[in-house]
Amino acid sequence: MQRYQTEERALRYWHKPHRGRGAFETWAVIVECHRRWGRGEDGQIRREYAWVLAPVASPLRGAWPQHIIDALNEDDGHVHDHAQNTPFDETEEAETLSAGDRYRQLTAAAGRTASNRSERSRRSEVDRYFRSPAAREAVLLRSGGTCENPRCLGHPTELTDAGAPILEVDHVNEVGNGGDDIPETMIALCPNCHALKTRGRNRRQLRTTLLRIARQRHRTFSRDES
Ligand SMILES: [Zn+2]
Repeated sequence: MQRYQTEERALRYWHKPHRGRGAFETWAVIVECHRRWGRGEDGQIRREYAWVLAPVASPLRGAWPQHIIDALNEDDGHVHDHAQNTPFDETEEAETLSAGDRYRQLTAAAGRTASNRSERSRRSEVDRYFRSPAAREAVLLRSGGTCENPRCLGHPTELTDAGAPILEVDHVNEVGNGGDDIPETMIALCPNCHALKTRGRNRRQLRTTLLRIARQRHRTFSRDES
């Protein structure tokens, strides 16, 4: 993978569905590689490598769309390491942290990731796939498991198989439009509110409200909750 990334060569992407047969799906080029924190099937925290593949119609570079060429030009072939700091600190100390302290710790980790990104990379087409796991976790913690839209009409109380609330962590301003990957501009929304924010007629107004709420809650949570 590393070689294909540095040589900017297309590779064959095969997909094998569960119990199904593998089949050639598309040509793809590697536009970025990230190292990050994730959780394995055993529930244990682990470091993961994530390769960002951009599908292309042909292995011939001349046929690739401009935004993919741009992304390749921006990529320095190195691993963007988001795992040096430990947003998931599973020591005993982390377990006894108050919600406020944990929130501040995650916010700081998200801030480091955001400031490590160059202005170019922040704007890049492919970077929107990469969101700071620490920022996401901080927002979920702040939400207390409930939709953060003050005008929410009702958040589903059912949980996922993993016992997590049904919430979507959203950037109030899209990352692709320069939105930062930091908790104060992100919000936890139930699926209804998320749809209103993306497709509703009053979405612009809602966006302004949500941004205000996110900042307010961020300030309150960073300061008071302890
Ligand atoms: Zn809601």
